[in-house]
Amino acid sequence: MTGTVEASHRQLSGWGRTAPTRARVDRPVDAASIAGAFRTQTGGVIARGLGRSYGDAAQCSGGLTIEASGFSDIGKLDDSSGTIDVGGGVSLHDLMRHIIPSGWFVAVTPGTRYVSIGGAIAADVHGKNHHRDGSFANHVVELTLVTPTGTFTVSQDADPELFWATAGGMGLTGVVISATLRLIPIETSWIRVDSQRFARLDDLMSTMEDSDHRYRYSVAWLDCLGHRDGNHRSVLTRGDHAPSGAIPDRLRSRSREVPGDPRVRVPRSAPGRLVNRLSVRALNEAWFRSSSRSVGSLHPLSGFFHPLDGVGDWNLLYGPAGFVQYQFAVPATRGDVVAEAVGAIASSGIPSFLAVLKRFGPGTPGPLSFSQEGWTLALDFPLGPPGLPALLDDLDELVAHAGGRVYLAKDARLRPELLPVMYPRLPDFAAVRRRVDPVGVLASDLSRRLGIPG
Ligand SMILES: Cc1cc2nc3c(=O)[nH]c(=O)nc-3n(C[C@H](O)[C@H](O)[C@H](O)COP(=O)(O)OP(=O)(O)OC[C@H]3O[C@@H](n4cnc5c(N)ncnc54)[C@H](O)[C@@H]3O)c2cc1C
Repeated sequence: MTGTVEASHRQLSGWGRTAPTRARVDRPVDAASIAGAFRTQTGGVIARGLGRSYGDAAQCSGGLTIEASGFSDIGKLDDSSGTIDVGGGVSLHDLMRHIIPSGWFVAVTPGTRYVSIGGAIAADVHGKNHHRDGSFANHVVELTLVTPTGTFTVSQDADPELFWATAGGMGLTGVVISATLRLIPIETSWIRVDSQRFARLDDLMSTMEDSDHRYRYSVAWLDCLGHRDGNHRSVLTRGDHAPSGAIPDRLRSRSREVPGDPRVRVPRSAPGRLVNRLSVRALNEAWFRSSSRSVGSLHPLSGFFHPLDGVGDWNLLYGPAGFVQYQFAVPATRGDVVAEAVGAIASSGIPSFLAVLKRFGPGTPGPLSFSQEGWTLALDFPLGPPGLPALLDDLDELVAHAGGRVYLAKDARLRPELLPVMYPRLPDFAAVRRRVDPVGVLASDLSRRLGIPG
C-alpha cells in the first residue's frame, strides 16, 4: 500500500494526560507521503509513536501529527550479525515477540515495551543496563529519516551529526521510517535476579557504586515518603539473562516465552483519582514488605523489565487531571543531589509512587540526549497538590546548577530559560536542524514551549 491512510483531527496528549491539544493526524505508509506533508503543511509537523512520552513531545497544536504506525515491517533476522531491519512504527512489544523464540533480545529496553522504534530513537531511551550498554542509539546500526530536505540513511559513521541529533532529538530532525538494530543473544527469556533491601539511601548508593558492574541490569526503588527516622527505604534489584542451565525442569517448556498482552485494563470510567498520599503509602509498604532479600531467583523478562505493562491504561488511575513524571540526571560526583531531592520531596508531603534510581554509564554524543554519566532518579507525581509546581521548580534549579538535566521525554513543565543550562549543546542541535529543515516545518508543543532552537 502507498499513500496516507486514516487522516483525522484528534485531541492528543502524552502518557501523563496533561496539556492535550488538537491536531490533524495522518498515518502515512510511505516516505513520499511524509515528504508531501512537509511541503504543504503550514502549522508544524511532528512524528508520533505510541504516545508513551509523558508530556507534549508527540503533539503539535494546530498542525500535523504523523503517526508512524504505518511503518510496521519487521525484516529478516540476520543470525550471523545479530541485526534486524525494522519499521519506525514497530513496537518493542512486537519486536520482542518476534525475536525471543530465536534467542535474541533488544540491547536496551525502557520500562515499558509499548514504545515504537522511532520513539525509542527520538528519546534515545535507556534501560536498567545503561551503566554497561549505554542507550538505545548505541545499538542502532543505521536509520532512515525523512526530513523536509530529503530522505537520508544515516549511521554513526555516515553523517554522525544528523545521526546523533536524531538520537534524542525528540522528532525535531524528521520522521524515522526504519532502522537496523544490533540485538543481543539470549539463551532463555528469564532473568536471574538478586534483590536486597536497604534502610538508608547512602548504603544503597554506595552498594550500587561498588558492585553494579557485576550485573548487566540494576535498578533501585525508593520510598520517597520517608520513614519516621528520616531515612528512605529502598529495594535494589539486579540481574542477568539466565543461561539455559539455570532453568529448572518445571520451566523448560517456557524457557523462551514471549511477553503477553496486558492481563487487565483500567476502564475509562475509573473513579476520580485513585493515586493519593494514602494509596501511595499503602503501595510502598506492600512493595517493601514483599521484596525480601533473594539470590538467583528467576523472573520472566516481562515482569523484570516491564512490570507496569501488565495493567493496560494504568495512567488513568491518576484521574482526569493526569500526572507528571519528573526524571533528572546528575553527574556521578553529585550523588548529594539525589539525597537532597529525595529529602525535599519527603518534606513537601507530596506523594510519589515508584521513585526509581539508576546509574548511567558514559552518555552518547547526541546534543539533546538525556543520559550523562552518573545518577538518574525518576518520580511520578499526581497533578493537584498546590506545592508541586514550586517543588519541581526548586528541583530544576538544584539539578541545573549541579550540571544535570531533566529528561525531555518525560517533561511537561520545565521553564525554558533552564533548557540551555541543562543542554549546553543546543547550538549544535540547531545547526543540524537548520540543515535538514531550513524553513522550520518540524515543531511540537514541547519545542514551542521550551523554545528549542532550529
Ligand atoms: C511506563 C513507562 C516507562 C518508561 N520507562 C522508560 C525508561 O525506563 N527509560 C526511558 O528512556 N524512557 C522510558 N519511558 C519513556 C519512553 O520510553 C519514551 O518517551 C519513548 O520516546 C516513547 O516512545 P513512543 O513510541 O511512545 O513515542 P511518543 O511518545 O509517541 O513520541 C516520543 C518522541 O519521539 C518522537 N517520535 C516518535 N516516533 C518517531 C518517529 N518515527 N520518528 C521520529 N521521531 C519520532 C516524537 O516526535 C516525540 O518527540 C517510559 C514511559 C512509560 C510510559
